[in-house]
Amino acid sequence: MKNRYSAEEAALFFQTLEGCNTDLAMRTYTSRLIGQEEDLVLHGGGNTSVKSQITTLLGEDCDVLFIKGSGWDLGSIEPQGFPALDLNYLQRLRKLERLSDEEMVNQFRTHMLDSSAPNPSIETLVHAFLPHKFIDHTHADAIVSLTNMDHPEDRLREVLGDKIGILPWIMPGFPLSKKVVELYERQPEIEAIILLNHGIFTFAESGDLAYSRMIHYVTLAEEYITSRQPCSPSPIAVYGGITPPTEIFLPLLRGALTIEAAGSFLPFYLQVRQNKEILHCLQEEGARSRYESGVLTPDHVIRTKNYPLWLDMQSTEEEDISRTIESELTAYETAYRNYFKQQVTEKEVERICLDSKPRVILVPGLGLITAGRTKKAASVAGDIAEHTLLAKQRGSCIGPYQELAQSHIFDMEYWSLEQAKLDKTSSLPLAGCVAMVTGGGGAIACGIGRKLLAAGAHVYLTDLNEDRLNQVSILLAQEFPAERIRTLVMDVTERQSVVIGIQTIVKECGGLDILVPNAGLAHVATLEDLDEQKFRQVTEVNTMGVFQVIQAAIPVFRRQAMLGKAPAHIIINSSKNVFAPGAAFGAYSSSKAGAHQLGKIAAMELAAYNVRVNMINADAIFDDHNISSGLWDVIGPDRMRSRNLDPEGLKAYYRERNLLKTEVLADHVGNAVVFFASTLTPTTGATLPVDGGVAAAFPR
Ligand SMILES: [Zn+2]
Repeated sequence: MKNRYSAEEAALFFQTLEGCNTDLAMRTYTSRLIGQEEDLVLHGGGNTSVKSQITTLLGEDCDVLFIKGSGWDLGSIEPQGFPALDLNYLQRLRKLERLSDEEMVNQFRTHMLDSSAPNPSIETLVHAFLPHKFIDHTHADAIVSLTNMDHPEDRLREVLGDKIGILPWIMPGFPLSKKVVELYERQPEIEAIILLNHGIFTFAESGDLAYSRMIHYVTLAEEYITSRQPCSPSPIAVYGGITPPTEIFLPLLRGALTIEAAGSFLPFYLQVRQNKEILHCLQEEGARSRYESGVLTPDHVIRTKNYPLWLDMQSTEEEDISRTIESELTAYETAYRNYFKQQVTEKEVERICLDSKPRVILVPGLGLITAGRTKKAASVAGDIAEHTLLAKQRGSCIGPYQELAQSHIFDMEYWSLEQAKLDKTSSLPLAGCVAMVTGGGGAIACGIGRKLLAAGAHVYLTDLNEDRLNQVSILLAQEFPAERIRTLVMDVTERQSVVIGIQTIVKECGGLDILVPNAGLAHVATLEDLDEQKFRQVTEVNTMGVFQVIQAAIPVFRRQAMLGKAPAHIIINSSKNVFAPGAAFGAYSSSKAGAHQLGKIAAMELAAYNVRVNMINADAIFDDHNISSGLWDVIGPDRMRSRNLDPEGLKAYYRERNLLKTEVLADHVGNAVVFFASTLTPTTGATLPVDGGVAAAFPR
């Protein structure tokens, strides 16, 4: 591993941190160097600290520990990512016989110098008790590969030399902190401490040296592992097995993985990783027993669960795929529940069993799939799982992999301080849900997208017009994480275009939960003047376009329902015109009525797959944050002319026309979509007006 430290680079970096404590500036610099190496730390794993002094408001000097705060990644950490704690107080805590985790966290919070700073790392006391100025801690792949073996001590000394201390697995927290400092006091000449099945601490009086020691020991471990690899890598075998088609496999898997809890359904976002290395690992001889093993370091358990689910497909037939998923998943879940029961019984503790679904699914021929309640969670699990796969492969040349005992895994998995690290987005009502909104470049789609995103969904906006699509997605990305907003150029009137669009969504997230046919065309002409081609064009988008997207989504919904019961939704943006048509608006009103009727048919046909189909009848929505409504671009000028009004006057006219005398906004339609998509009522085939109340358009 390359030592990235450069005195010149460090000096340049310090210039960017004007006024920053110099120790903290150095701490930030070398922490970032560590964070640049994925083989050292992944997603918040690992932590670093520095002991320094600050001057309080009263002008008194105070010894402090700057320690990595939770929620920060070392690779991008800033000085404010290191909360400062009263060091002398922390060190006095060592006198205690015991200290509960909750009280430990409370002691941290009450001895911080800035009440708004993030929570310090749960390994803070290790950093406080060791006397060194700079301390670096990582869960380096190469180090844990060496420790996750039978009797690793001799090998560790052989590879890393005698200036290391070794500790068996102990849960992070107060007892580990005491053990680490006791070990150091027995062997004050050591430069590093290896924690079996966990990682490595290095320390020194300078930031440069602590970091260099980290790189030194990790490099020794890496070189040893590399020296044990066969000189010529085994040739990549031609995969002789079956590769399941993703459009069938992923929705089946996604449906089966959906968590059912207290009557509500929590779907997963699925992410597929497929590269040469992954595929090679999965088709090696003995791959199943090698890669179905437990995590490299228990810190990963909350992201990936201890074990992956192995799915070896014997057929490309839908029924066979479904049967394999069902039987393997049932076995996986039973084993998980047994592990839980056994642990709570043995430890005589009371805990609430977490869901028993896997987060990592290994499929020879297809790749590595991860499941997360958010895209971020799936991607974090994916990074960890990919590293784990490759570390186990490299480690297999040294000896058989030895996983950590389930009893220790349980302590970590059910540790409240670990659970607290998980992303809070997953508690939003539509977390994990995938939505597709057609006509994505218009004002109403903007309101629908905004509300779906606010409810936690991943949103695909589709449109023919790429410019308008980009305008809407840029606007929404100002309010919501861009990773949850995707755009697809799609023509709802072209079957092939729609099929490709839906397949793309399935490939990228595993399935679809909420379909919002919203694309529409308007045309103003009396029947006498209505051009036949125009009429066909409007019908093609407003009726056939709705049919095309519904038809293409049905196989996804059917497959998701085969092994799971999670509801899916079709929410058609219909129109007030269906019940209250307007003269000179024949093409629009009749084609919208056709789509409305299709919705009712879909409600009848798709109930068997737990798909609910509902319609929203909106009226007079003109724009949304400067995004115009395509409909009003067409009919607005005509309406203004006939009533002799300007744009504001027209808005006022429509406001005065409804019973509630209110302006109807795109966000209101979005609220209605989220209401249906949240499955709050057992409703299908219904119409919800969002029009301020127009008596002539009451649904009947
Ligand atoms: Zn650690």
